Amino acid sequence: MGLGKYHQKRSFKQTPEPKGRDKKTTSKKLAFVVQEHHASRLHYDFRLELDGVLKSWAVPKGPSLSPHDHHLAVHVEDHPFEYRKFEGVIPQGNYGAGNVIIWDQGWYEPRAQAADQQKELRAGLKKGHLTIVLHGQKLKGEFALIKMPNANEQDAWLLIKKDDQYASAVDVTKQDESVKSHKRVDDLGAPGKLPDLSEYPKKAVPWKVTPMLCTPVDEPFSRDGWLFEIKWDGYRAVGSKHGSDVQLYSRNDIDFTQKYPSVAEALRALKHD
Ligand code: MN
Repeated sequence: MGLGKYHQKRSFKQTPEPKGRDKKTTSKKLAFVVQEHHASRLHYDFRLELDGVLKSWAVPKGPSLSPHDHHLAVHVEDHPFEYRKFEGVIPQGNYGAGNVIIWDQGWYEPRAQAADQQKELRAGLKKGHLTIVLHGQKLKGEFALIKMPNANEQDAWLLIKKDDQYASAVDVTKQDESVKSHKRVDDLGAPGKLPDLSEYPKKAVPWKVTPMLCTPVDEPFSRDGWLFEIKWDGYRAVGSKHGSDVQLYSRNDIDFTQKYPSVAEALRALKHD
């Protein structure tokens, strides 16, 4: 299939999704990822590494651990291998606009022992019947992807859990946190609470503070005067505001005002009399 269709649908100046390229090499263990995607409709994107790209199905109801559930899985365009790491917000106006989290990830293999795993998988895909074993955090054990017979919809498949020690009646989609960031899909990109500036000292610029650094301790604690928050990836920035004069800088005193204009703008918009 290649990535032609994937590239056609997207404008990489406007979406943070990876552009990716057809990869030549292959992982030792083939990767799989399931992304929960809250676009116009919530669905789960089930992706299997094969031939350097991610073979992809959109599963409206998400995976199930019950062999009794036959969930529709719509075969969609190949996604680049790099997509397995994508978690974030696809901005409005773009294809698939909405939030994406990495709901599960791990590696997978064909159920049948095969000297050439990818050859085996390629054949299954062509035949419309793939039987695989997932080694994920939420999804484990045998699954089948079966193309629906005589469906006018060429792309309609079913995702079915096989009966094994990992089969269960428990609704696995209730485990709704990202295995990467532990955020829920609707928590991404939510506007942060605006700080109450009256708590901060009014001093003339330049006003510099040195952010606190991490301190190793022996065990978790709770104490007056302490607040705890999740450590996100990214930069910490200190902002100062004097009238409409706003400055943002890193803890190493690197100017962030130009680099993150929307953050500077948000700070400028805060009232501080
Ligand atoms: Mn999707």
